[in-house]
Amino acid sequence: MKLWVTPSGDKWLCDECQPEFDEQIKQESWRVAFEKFEPMLRCVHCKHGDVEILD
Ligand SMILES: [Zn+2]
Repeated sequence: MKLWVTPSGDKWLCDECQPEFDEQIKQESWRVAFEKFEPMLRCVHCKHGDVEILD
């Protein structure tokens, strides 16, 4: 999950939803504050967390 800094506030966005925001990211110059693998985080768009299990 990446934390994006956007004009309307910080948003957590998963990699699967990121392409849907590509245009907005470019237009509004969003930038990634940092990336974190934390199961409790929820994507602002799909409301899901990082489901990948890393071992
Ligand atoms: Zn998502």
